[in-house]
Amino acid sequence: MFRQALEQSFNSVLVTDAQQGAHGHRILYANPAFCRMTGYSAQELIGQTPRLLQGPLTSPDVLRELRECLQAGRYFQGSTVNYRKDGTPYIVEWNISPMRDERGEITHFVSVQQDVSELVAARHTNQLLANALNAAQDAIFITDVDGKIEFANHGFELVTGFNNSEVLGSMPNILKSGVQNEAFYQRLWCSLKAGQTFRATVVNRHKNGQLIHCEETITPVYDGKGVMTHFVSIIKDLSKRILAEKELRKQATVDGLTGLLNRRSGELQLEKAYRSACEGDTHFCVLLADVDHFKAINDTWGHPTGDVVLKDVARLLRASVRSTDSVARWGGEEFLIVLPYCDLPAAQKQAERIRMRVAQKHQPLVGQITLSIGVAQLQDYDETLAGLIDRADKALYRAKKEGRNLVCSA
Ligand code: GH3
Ligand code: MG
Ligand code: MG
Repeated sequence: MFRQALEQSFNSVLVTDAQQGAHGHRILYANPAFCRMTGYSAQELIGQTPRLLQGPLTSPDVLRELRECLQAGRYFQGSTVNYRKDGTPYIVEWNISPMRDERGEITHFVSVQQDVSELVAARHTNQLLANALNAAQDAIFITDVDGKIEFANHGFELVTGFNNSEVLGSMPNILKSGVQNEAFYQRLWCSLKAGQTFRATVVNRHKNGQLIHCEETITPVYDGKGVMTHFVSIIKDLSKRILAEKELRKQATVDGLTGLLNRRSGELQLEKAYRSACEGDTHFCVLLADVDHFKAINDTWGHPTGDVVLKDVARLLRASVRSTDSVARWGGEEFLIVLPYCDLPAAQKQAERIRMRVAQKHQPLVGQITLSIGVAQLQDYDETLAGLIDRADKALYRAKKEGRNLVCSA
């Protein structure tokens, strides 16, 4: 029975004698599993020492430890690289036990071995996958089918602030911000249960309480038998991109120096006011304001001081109009003010107030500055926007010609 057990054992079994030295540890028995693992026949092995199986990648440290254990009569467990008859390496895991006779003397060693190359390779692949996932900048996490988190990569902490020990075993609702409603989560679970990938822009909450805009993709994971076992989620942090887009939009609409609308945005406001004036049959006026002798300011005090003056004029203009009015930088030192729902007398009064405020303000760097302002109201006959601006421009030109620091109407 013992012989049959050894002969039919799945694990490799090797018995050596207990002698030390150059001729010691000779192989007395190798079972068929051992022969299959090494490629040697039992006859080829018997009488040899297990050194036959060693090669360049066999760890000398493990062998030293093995020898020490055997000399001390202790059980040994270890793993190293061995070589088959055809020279190919394999990774072996040994358990070696001393066999003692009735007097307690060690007479043999019995070694049970297993080729763990595939296991080690799989462990390597696992480690590689984990390293790769951890190298990713996006948050990646894996949950079981009930949503319990089993794995979270380093990116998860970068994006959400929660580290591995805080999230393993918890549910992804630690990221819940409350921005998405119940219907959203119902749709999510519906998709996943149906085996479909769910993709959405989601607002999550960072550990520090801040909202994070994310693009989230959740995909079901199946085992070899086609059973859904997990979900893998990838969260891309869009906050930086959203901020960058906001900044770009701002740059596209706002004048860099004064913070007023730029010319293109001024034109859009003009068109908007024009359309609503035409549709609603209401009044609509524009002002064109230009700083007097601005070239002289630049020439006398320098361009940077000219910039400070322009910024101050912009502030004054913005502070002088209603929130529904628009102020745009129309050119170098020229400003457009759009006054919807405003008739000519009201626009003239507004322009006069602006002219006075600027003229009365003492500029710390350059003293007094003045504006000339042209005022025009959209005419009842089908006047075009270009026609309206042209008349405001002509009125401004007249204000300059008639001495500056003046308001003229078309
Ligand atoms: P007028 O009373 O006829 O308007 O005389 P002006 O000197 O103001 O008119 P002009 O158009 O000859 O000069 C405008 C000057 O504005 C010329 C230009 O160098 C200056 N300018 C345009 N943009 C800027 C700017 O962003 N910063 C500064 N500092 N100067 C600017
Ligand atoms: Mg000027
Ligand atoms: Mg000018």
